[in-house]
Amino acid sequence: MSLLAPVAGGCGSDRPQRGEGTVQVVTSTATLADLVQNAGGRRVEVQSLVPRFAYPHDWRPGAGTAAALEDADLVVMLGGELDAWLAAPLERGGPARELVLLPQLDPLADDSHWWQDPVRVQRAVKLVRNELARVDVDGAGYYEAAAAEYLERLRRLDDETGSCLAAVRSARERIVAQHSGFAYFTDRYGIEIVGPRAGRGALGRRLWADTLGPPGSRAESYLGAFALNLGVIVRALSDGERSCRPRV
Ligand SMILES: [Zn+2]
Repeated sequence: MSLLAPVAGGCGSDRPQRGEGTVQVVTSTATLADLVQNAGGRRVEVQSLVPRFAYPHDWRPGAGTAAALEDADLVVMLGGELDAWLAAPLERGGPARELVLLPQLDPLADDSHWWQDPVRVQRAVKLVRNELARVDVDGAGYYEAAAAEYLERLRRLDDETGSCLAAVRSARERIVAQHSGFAYFTDRYGIEIVGPRAGRGALGRRLWADTLGPPGSRAESYLGAFALNLGVIVRALSDGERSCRPRV
């Protein structure tokens, strides 16, 4: 089913005021915004406080943060250290509903980078879908359908990641990346990706860690960025002999 397809529902005079793009959601990061957009489809309008190219660590919320929070129906946070900067603006005033994902995703201590594990991402998308259905009760069926389609793509990503890594598993199991935000990838797949200070050597190409690429690029979405990373990781583990390009 396409995300664009309307979901069957009542069309009588009791039609809800809610509709396309009317549920305003604010997220801390662009990756999280992409997940929420996929769970919410066209009924939600999502704004990321940290722009897609910007590094969220030590982000300082700007003047627009308070206004964005004030207008929102829901704020969705990663949880953990990465968007802790949102706590103060939220204390000063924010939407009635907040969804903090990390505590519900089998956290690795305070590490926020759970999106590096597509299985945890599936759980997160279900939590977002459920929360959207609470905020916008009449959209529950729509969110169910939108999230189901995306969850299927996430399951396929996880399957293909497992297959690609199984093919190179014996070669080498530790690679060095430019960022130390890959503990959840290691937790899921057993491939150790350590930060620049923890190991010698280099990956050669950078991984998409906390940001997304420009619209129109292959890294513009979570799925695309993860797939690109996987290709880089498989090439690094196989000394350039194997490639992997998951169909997402
Ligand atoms: Zn990070």
